[in-house]
Amino acid sequence: MIKHSLKTDGDQCIFCEIAAGKISADLVFWSDDNFMAFLSIDPNTKGFSCVIPKKHYDSDVLKMPDEVLAQFIIATKKAADILENYFDDVGRVGILAEGTGINHAHFKLFPMHGTEYFKRGEWRQTLSDKKFWFDKYEGWISSGSGPMADFSQLKELASNIRKSLNG
Ligand SMILES: [Zn+2]
Repeated sequence: MIKHSLKTDGDQCIFCEIAAGKISADLVFWSDDNFMAFLSIDPNTKGFSCVIPKKHYDSDVLKMPDEVLAQFIIATKKAADILENYFDDVGRVGILAEGTGINHAHFKLFPMHGTEYFKRGEWRQTLSDKKFWFDKYEGWISSGSGPMADFSQLKELASNIRKSLNG
């Protein structure tokens, strides 16, 4: 495998290079005409993967054209199914899109190891005891909860957001 850094310079897009089969082709485990899935080179859990459109779209997936985004989600579902079927101890795959590491649209897929009970149709509440609060984005998003908020402040924020829609 050709070594490469996650940093991109100039107009070189590392995910476009992967899509073109120029690098890391041996990490790809699924593709169709428009999308592909490959293992991350710096996983934080086994099977941590990315799904990308082969065509370049900038990294804010929620700004993609609706039809492309819909197809992208379906492609992500296919890749997640593959991972879930592959790992005996994975009953669910979490997905995330931030797009601050590489400016090419991608969903990150996190096989949730130790959740095999979902395969049996069993649902269990699993909560982290760690609490996070972010005043600013630090380069990663936590899916965990933070401390309980002040309810009156939440109501005020919701009210202000609703008002902004009418303004
Ligand atoms: Zn690209």
